[in-house]
Amino acid sequence: MREGIHPKYFQATVTCNCGNTFVTGSTSKEIHVEVCSKCHSFYTGTQKTAAAKGRIDKFNRKYGLGNN
Ligand SMILES: [Zn+2]
Repeated sequence: MREGIHPKYFQATVTCNCGNTFVTGSTSKEIHVEVCSKCHSFYTGTQKTAAAKGRIDKFNRKYGLGNN
């Protein structure tokens, strides 16, 4: 089997800014993310990082979800 013809699927280790790591399927072996389902306020209902909060506020404003 020759490499480079078909994308290989790895068990990628995803590392988040919050320190959380989890494994997912990807064509990369390692992935770094700024927010994950564990620290993302959209999922957790809490805000652990200002960056995450800013993103959600921006998202909510864009889609008109922040005025409830
Ligand atoms: Zn995280």
